[in-house]
Amino acid sequence: MDVDYCQFKPEIIQIERKNSLGNKKQNIKMQISSEFWLNKVVSSLEKAKVILGIKFECNEYKLEDLIVDSENYGRNYKECIGSQFQPCIGADGNVYVCTNHRGHKKYSYGSIIEKNFSKIWNDIESRKKIMNIINKKEKFSNCTQLCKPHESNKILWSIKKNVKDKDYLAKLKLKSKDLSKNLKHINFI
Ligand code: SF4
Repeated sequence: MDVDYCQFKPEIIQIERKNSLGNKKQNIKMQISSEFWLNKVVSSLEKAKVILGIKFECNEYKLEDLIVDSENYGRNYKECIGSQFQPCIGADGNVYVCTNHRGHKKYSYGSIIEKNFSKIWNDIESRKKIMNIINKKEKFSNCTQLCKPHESNKILWSIKKNVKDKDYLAKLKLKSKDLSKNLKHINFI
C-alpha cells in the first residue's frame, strides 16, 4: 500500500454530560490517561521515527501537555480566545462556541436557520455572555482538555498578558519569522 500522508492524533474525548444529548449513562467517558501515552504511544512513535527518517514529523506539544502536566494538560489560560476564531456550526443550524460544545444549546450564539451568520457573529454582547460563563463561571469545567483551539488559546493568552511588553512582541515577531522559514505547508502547522 502506498501512503503519502498519514496523521495520528491523541484521542481526545468530548466530555459527556449526564442527562444531556440523551446520554443517561452513569459512566461518564474520561480522557485516556497520560500514562497510556507515555508507556504505549511514545515508544511506537520512536519506532516510526526510525522507520520513516526525515519523513517523520511529530507535533509533540500535545504529548508534552499530556505527559508533563497530567492535571491541567497545559491549560494555563484564563480565557478561551481561540474559539473566537473558529466557531462550529452544528447540523442543527446552531453556531456553537466550538466543536466540543456542539449540541449543547447553552453554548449556541444563535441559529443560522433563524438569522444569517453575520448577524449572529456581530452580536458581540451575546457572545461575551456565553464566553463569560465558560471562562469565569464554569472555569472550563465543561471543556474538553487539549481541545482544538488549546494551542491557539495558550499563545493568544500569552499575547494578551504581554501586549504592552515591547521585548516580548519583538521576540514573538522574530520567532514567527524563523518558524515561517521551516513551514512545509501552511495548512499543516
Ligand atoms: S477551551 Fe476549548 S472546549 Fe472550552 S470553550 Fe474553548 S475551545 Fe471549547
